[in-house]
Amino acid sequence: MGKPIKLIWRLRGKLIVNFISTRGSQIYSIDEVLAKGIADDGGLFIPKVLPKINHEDLSNSMTLIDTAQVLLAPFFRESILRDSLNQIIRESLSFPIPAVKTSSEQNLWFLELFHGPTAAFKDVGAGFLASCMSRLNKAKDKPLVVLVATSGDTGGAVAAAFHGLPNVKVIVLFPKDKVSKRQEKQLTCWGDNILSLTVNGTFDDCQKLVKSIFVDSNLSLKYRFSSANSINFGRLLPQSIYYAHSSLKHFRSRSKKANFIIPTGNLGNGLACILARSMGFPIGEIILSVNANRLIADYLDGAEWLPKMSIQTLANAMDVGNPSNMERLNSLFGQASELKNKVRAVSVSDKNISNEITRVFKQTKTIICPHTATASYTYNQFIDDVKMQQDWIIAATAHPAKFETVVEPLIGQEITVPDELAILLDKPSQVFSINPNIREFEKILIDKSI
Ligand SMILES: *Cc1c(COP(=O)(O)O)cnc(C)c1O
Repeated sequence: MGKPIKLIWRLRGKLIVNFISTRGSQIYSIDEVLAKGIADDGGLFIPKVLPKINHEDLSNSMTLIDTAQVLLAPFFRESILRDSLNQIIRESLSFPIPAVKTSSEQNLWFLELFHGPTAAFKDVGAGFLASCMSRLNKAKDKPLVVLVATSGDTGGAVAAAFHGLPNVKVIVLFPKDKVSKRQEKQLTCWGDNILSLTVNGTFDDCQKLVKSIFVDSNLSLKYRFSSANSINFGRLLPQSIYYAHSSLKHFRSRSKKANFIIPTGNLGNGLACILARSMGFPIGEIILSVNANRLIADYLDGAEWLPKMSIQTLANAMDVGNPSNMERLNSLFGQASELKNKVRAVSVSDKNISNEITRVFKQTKTIICPHTATASYTYNQFIDDVKMQQDWIIAATAHPAKFETVVEPLIGQEITVPDELAILLDKPSQVFSINPNIREFEKILIDKSI
């Protein structure tokens, strides 16, 4: 892994943020970063410099949209999207992201990231990337075909975000009989510019098929393919906005920095929070809560970085054996010995996830999802002094109704499905089945006139 790059701070002026790869020094513009997803050398894009704001200079009445504009402007100053940025922000942040105080008397809030169309935080990043990609592709002759292999959550957020947009089509590939009924609905209810394919095989077969499509010379003559997976910086950057905004609001009302606990898998959401703090927003400590896939926690404790096969847990959107954003953290902030001064990580077992969902419901009547439960459990391990003296915000990453098969038996009652999700669950499914074979894939593109 590379050496940490030096971050250059600018307090004022017209800083323009360019990008480099974690594995090289070639300079890329934001438009290239959004279109390519991954650098030519196989590395991940990181900002070459980070803009820095002085949060005391910002107005007292900043809305979420205002904060987004302040945070994103330096990244888009030279982009062909510059004049559309305002509109892109409004499209992708069209739902509320409130920090809700828990009903216990502790200084604890849930930042509810689940009021978007598929009821998880991934709606923010996917929506932003979709708005950008649709516009970036306007002048092109062939429509852009975005491929998403998904084991459940990501595909739904990406499909929802791109549905109905001009100049782009999305093909979602998911393993047959390996996603929950509600997840399947979110992957297959779209139609129009979204094609849903269920693949006779595993998630790995879906991923292998997508990789082979990208390098197939036959297909690349006819189509322009891209991916919207979570390593695209266009999904990560907008996630910094809700941390920036909630920390600002918190600081204004409490004169204290908010500390965050973030349920973590691939480390995109956690990195977004660290970036917001590095840009000058009033954020204190950051703790990453992981499930039994404990690589990040062990690494920060001094173990070697040895990616593993993921193991299945109750918080399945965090079942990641090789969190790809660690490469970004290392390049930006250094190896474990330096990183552990910036961020902590705690691993939470399935047993503690279940107990926490039950405990929180019994004590406060709040229903939390299994991912959010890892963070809530971590908070509850704090000593009383910490709970009394410090303010903490938990990133509530999904609505519990998405994980009803885990949560309902624990709390002994049905969870009311939020309206956005209920609308999707009521729509008819449109899905086609294929074997993990590139020629079968090609045939279906022709049949469906993609
Ligand atoms: C994707 C996801 C996570 C993990 O986020 P990362 O950015 O991959 O660390 C946590 N909770 C939910 C509900 C998710 O969908």
